[in-house]
Amino acid sequence: MKIAFVTGGASGLGAAIARRLHEDGFRVVLSDIDEQGGTRLAEELGGWAEFIRLDVSSEESWKAAIGYLEDRHGRLDVLVNNAGITTIGNIETLSFAALKREFSINLDSVFLGCQNAISLMKTYGGSIINIASGCSRKVKPDLAGYNATKAAVTMLSKTIALHCAKQGYGIRVNTVHPGAMRTPIVDKVLSQSDDPDALLASFIADHPIGRIGEPTDIAAMVSFLASEQATFVTGAEFFVDGGMTL
Ligand code: NAD
Repeated sequence: MKIAFVTGGASGLGAAIARRLHEDGFRVVLSDIDEQGGTRLAEELGGWAEFIRLDVSSEESWKAAIGYLEDRHGRLDVLVNNAGITTIGNIETLSFAALKREFSINLDSVFLGCQNAISLMKTYGGSIINIASGCSRKVKPDLAGYNATKAAVTMLSKTIALHCAKQGYGIRVNTVHPGAMRTPIVDKVLSQSDDPDALLASFIADHPIGRIGEPTDIAAMVSFLASEQATFVTGAEFFVDGGMTL
């Protein structure tokens, strides 16, 4: 049975991705720092789903997680680097400490995840899917750190894709770029705003298709990239954003 590992799987997009890969027939190992939420979802999914704790910004935590996958399953077919945070702040207001935290959770996580997973994945090949953002292309001035982390995730992913292809590992690496999706990360951004209704209306106005996204929209793209239908796809960016970046 093929193994899929999802970070930040307790909530939002990660939970929808874990659900979808489970429906697709993967044995899903979901991870998060939210042990309660992660355990609850694994129990809800039932057979062939389990939860382990992983702090994506910690090298030690990654080594333990990949070691666990190797000991228990002996393989890893799909890695979804999904965990991430968003901090509001422009170049004048974002603190250096907040910037470093955002890079640690959004970018170090992808570096550590790929570096540790490749050693296990390269035996059978596989698919790595890194969740970036439409903000890697379309700048939002109040997300100074976030925009930069997601642009960096995009180029790091292409670099890893090329490395893996040239090494003949059979590992594909792609990025998925959501527009605004209705998840807790967006709810938090709305709650930090002085006028949440106006901000939500402005999010919708940003998406020519006339709505913000649902987590299942992202899960469907991840499902494709994880599947045998995508074996010729690597180093690519997939914008699932209702036209936001047009
Ligand atoms: P979310 O806040 O609902 O979920 C994020 C999950 O990551 C949470 O369960 C949280 O506990 C976990 N997490 C946070 N720090 C962690 C850490 N150090 N180690 C492990 N897990 C950690 O967010 P979401 O909206 O589902 O976002 C998921 C991904 O999608 C993020 O990378 C985000 O940047 C990206 N994204 C989201 C949107 C959106 O509109 N929701 C848009 C573009 C990109």
